Amino acid sequence: MYSHPGVKTAPSHPVPETMKAWVLGDPDELKLIDKPVPVPKKAEVLVRVDAIAICATDLDVISSGPPAMIQGGKPFNKNFTPGHEYMGTVVALGPGVDEFAIGDRITVEIHAGCGQCKRCRMGMYTSCHNYGLNYGDVDKGHRANGFTSDGGFAEYAVNNINTLIKISDEMSDEEATLVVTAGTSMYGLTELGGLIAGEGIVVMGPGPIGLLGVAVAKALGAYPVILTGTRDNRLETGKELGADYVINVRNEDAVEAVRRITGGKGVDYVLECSGAQEAINESGRMLNRGGKICLAAFPHDPALIDVAHLVRNNIYIYGIRGEGKSATHRAHAFMAEKRFDATKIHTHTFMMEELPKALHYARNRIDDAIKVVVKMPQRRAELEGRRKTG
Ligand SMILES: [Zn+2]
Ligand SMILES: [Zn+2]
Repeated sequence: MYSHPGVKTAPSHPVPETMKAWVLGDPDELKLIDKPVPVPKKAEVLVRVDAIAICATDLDVISSGPPAMIQGGKPFNKNFTPGHEYMGTVVALGPGVDEFAIGDRITVEIHAGCGQCKRCRMGMYTSCHNYGLNYGDVDKGHRANGFTSDGGFAEYAVNNINTLIKISDEMSDEEATLVVTAGTSMYGLTELGGLIAGEGIVVMGPGPIGLLGVAVAKALGAYPVILTGTRDNRLETGKELGADYVINVRNEDAVEAVRRITGGKGVDYVLECSGAQEAINESGRMLNRGGKICLAAFPHDPALIDVAHLVRNNIYIYGIRGEGKSATHRAHAFMAEKRFDATKIHTHTFMMEELPKALHYARNRIDDAIKVVVKMPQRRAELEGRRKTG
């Protein structure tokens, strides 16, 4: 039986000693193995993973490594479990934890910074100065599950209590996996951006962060909310999530369209989620003077930028990495209040043992896949049990 000093468990949620977990071998090689169930330390809990969404960043990690970093280097052949957008049930409490109870349904943020560097002290724990330093003599306590520590493509994961958000039974497992994505958009728009009601925004690129960026911006009172992209079906989803205008850049010039919609004035913000080569230059021309560009995509190549235009027009540019300052909690509040329906971006569900197929769907956007969710066997057993008894 799973038993460790100072760790609380309960008969209602028995924990085995070993679990099934996917681990990364060579690039693009995932293996389903048995691993010991991890043990929560002080200020940590053990989470039974019930569902996990696949993110484009997971695909990057599995194929090329960064931004994942294990023991100071690339994450290959280190018994590392990727996956970071998960939700589940608290099943064991580390020493001294009374903030959560066994049986609580939770969803997670990704990053628990070191808590001791300048950025962590400012609440910007996704910009922790001790990123990836969590091993051997250089253990600063930094955790970013699925990047620098084991993630959620497994039956169990350990989480710092600061990364947990309690969810009600009304929120489905699938919807709960999307909270952190909405939290990333929220962080970019409010804490880092300072967006206030009535300001105009263009969201470039209708991927998951862009689409939930539209939803969050609308819920925050932005106007107009304009979405640009190349796929009509995704632009339609954007409208359902609150876009006032959508622009298919295959059919019209996005900068001209934004100028026309805003009466020549331009918008106050661009949330850049496309990673396109010309994105920053186009953003600069969609903005009014003093406007801000929030960069949320990871382009693969350096871009040539018209800096003089940005300087002349007093334009701010900032990158976001993840979901700092507890923005995820506030995004969850919007979702719990049903201010938008994030499940509109959830398109496919697979079981844990089908992870390679699920990744294939996400990577190749098969059948118009946007967010692909993987569900866990324990959760299936529990739901089936409930169906039988209920
Ligand atoms: Zn992600
Ligand atoms: Zn830190």
